[in-house]
Amino acid sequence: MWRGNIAIGLAMTFGLMTLIIVSVNQLLAVTLNDAITREGEHKASQWVRFFNDHMPDLQVLVTSGQPTGEQIAPIESAVQFGEVFRFKLFDPNGRLVLVSNEARFRAEKTTEYDNGISKKARAVFDTGTSNISINDGTEKPNRPDVYIEAYVQALDANRSPFAVIEVYTDETPTSTLFHSVFDWLAIGLPAFCAFAYVFPAIGFLARSAQVRRRDEKVQRLSRFDALTGLLNRLTLTHEGELLFAADSRRRPKVGVFYIDVDNFKTINDDNGHEFGDSYLCHISAILSDNLRDTDLIGRMGGDEYVAILSNASVPELETIAGRILESASKPFTYKGRTITGSISIGTHLSVHGESMDDALQAADLALYQAKKTGRNKIIRYYAGLDTARQRRRNVEARMTEALETGEFELHYQPLLNCETDAPVGFEALLRLSFKDGEKIAPDEFIPVAEETGLINEIGEMVLRMAITEAKSWPSNLFVAVNLSPVQFEKNTLVGKVADLLKEFDFPAERLELEVTESLLLADEESVTGQLAGLKSIGVSLAMDDFGTGYSSLGYLWRFGFDKLKVDRAFLEGFEFDSDRYRRIIETIIVLGHQMDMKVAVEGVETERQHNLLKSLHCDENQGFLLGRPKPIGQFASLIDTQHPGDGAEAGSFSATG
Ligand code: C2E
Ligand code: CA
Ligand code: CA
Repeated sequence: MWRGNIAIGLAMTFGLMTLIIVSVNQLLAVTLNDAITREGEHKASQWVRFFNDHMPDLQVLVTSGQPTGEQIAPIESAVQFGEVFRFKLFDPNGRLVLVSNEARFRAEKTTEYDNGISKKARAVFDTGTSNISINDGTEKPNRPDVYIEAYVQALDANRSPFAVIEVYTDETPTSTLFHSVFDWLAIGLPAFCAFAYVFPAIGFLARSAQVRRRDEKVQRLSRFDALTGLLNRLTLTHEGELLFAADSRRRPKVGVFYIDVDNFKTINDDNGHEFGDSYLCHISAILSDNLRDTDLIGRMGGDEYVAILSNASVPELETIAGRILESASKPFTYKGRTITGSISIGTHLSVHGESMDDALQAADLALYQAKKTGRNKIIRYYAGLDTARQRRRNVEARMTEALETGEFELHYQPLLNCETDAPVGFEALLRLSFKDGEKIAPDEFIPVAEETGLINEIGEMVLRMAITEAKSWPSNLFVAVNLSPVQFEKNTLVGKVADLLKEFDFPAERLELEVTESLLLADEESVTGQLAGLKSIGVSLAMDDFGTGYSSLGYLWRFGFDKLKVDRAFLEGFEFDSDRYRRIIETIIVLGHQMDMKVAVEGVETERQHNLLKSLHCDENQGFLLGRPKPIGQFASLIDTQHPGDGAEAGSFSATG
């Protein structure tokens, strides 16, 4: 492209130079003729005056036409005077009387005159106006290259004309001088133009080429992801749309992969950003290696990739995705550090006429499902995912609304002393319904709240409601509130809890916070600090759903947990394998006690389970048999038997289910 511009530039320059040279030559011709004519006229007049002055009896010679002996020498010397090399003498009628050098001053009979009369000479004699002509002598013998013939009047002492003399002067030196000056002009002007125009033009073109190269680079950068060199989001969606448009005409199907690195944040946090970046490049390389040249691969930002496969089929998608998943689950080493990571892939084969946006969304939904159901897997999109997504959206919208309108409710489930069956506290359990009354289970809305971050606001609201409620209870009853690991992420939890206790003047030891084992998998240092912070303000910590996760008893003890809440799965197990489960439950209770932790068991549904726990000296138990979660008002009779703040023993609790 820029070569084309240079060619145009050079052609223009060449044209301009030609124009300059032609113009200079034209100018030369005009100027030279003018100068030589003037100069010739001047020289001829001077010469005629000189000749007249030095030639005795010139007027006689005009009549006679034959120079006398005395006249020969002045004639010869006159021809050497100035640049005059020849002259002709005419009488007043224009008749040629004498030619200086030819045939030794003999009257010439030539055909150039009409009966020996020169019309030019006659006219000059009559008018007094000189006649000057410039001649080219290059081809003529005895003639200089450039000379003039000037017809000039010869005047007597009274300034009356008596003859006309045609004077031949050599103008070659003048012409040569002019030519050399103009030659310099002809070369100099274009050269000047070159300096004044061509070089800046070339500079400009070079600069434009540079700008263009930079633009190309910017464009390339704006097309590709700077880190991985894959297409960036914008380019991928643009080129993907073209591919979808082309394929919809020919009817083959387009496949889409939505890919996300599992736990990328942890990889980054544990190994540093440089390692994280090189891991992202490693995943891009795996994608490039396993996909076909005709496929589009892009990084959508962060640890998210999309591949668009033209002309695909379900088995093909499965094979390729399988290979990618396998490669990504192999160990990766960078600068001496090795990790074994994994990715999740959502796949979708477009249906005819489907837009790229819809296809991408389908693959994204499948990816979401892969993440939700354990990661390191491939899920192919199915229609049910759409319904699930719509449901999730509805739940989210309802939570946002309920937060504003105060439609969230708390139900309370009692925890009873195993030995006495007296209530020792209540666990606050959150309740939400759609406007039409349809209940939404906490197991459904809590994860959505965690994903969207709404849990922070909701969690604070629950604490506030629970503390407000428990404030009116007898002082020996605690309230237990469940916390999500997400509430620990901003590291502001301890402050919030402390503020609430202070605001309601609520004794910290009557607040029990329940966390699950998944919390301990998160950022260890920050979580340890916050748990220690909570302990230091005096609230008690319970490990919820104990036995389903990964934590060891020693671990919990070191964290300062006050209570283990054994997951109800153990009592369920007791129903079909009593002996084994009785031993497991007993072991947990004994070990917990050994480590200064209270042990509560969840999910008491039968008298047999209830009696088992009594016999094993469990501290607390909770379950549908002992009391379902209900609005606190329904426990009024029980709470009324107590006196707020009096520290009285709670009355025994009849298990009604
Ligand atoms: P969780 O903390 O383990 O709460 C106990 C769950 O077991 C409650 O379910 C309760 O209704 C149920 N349950 C109690 N006794 C029995 C029984 O004898 N048999 C059976 N089958 N189930 C029993 P719920 O209320 O549906 O809550 C489910 C989960 O939602 C809770 O499990 C807790 O993890 C979460 N959750 C509830 N409220 C909150 C909250 O305010 N904040 C947070 N972060 N999570 C909450
Ligand atoms: Ca709980
Ligand atoms: Ca539980």
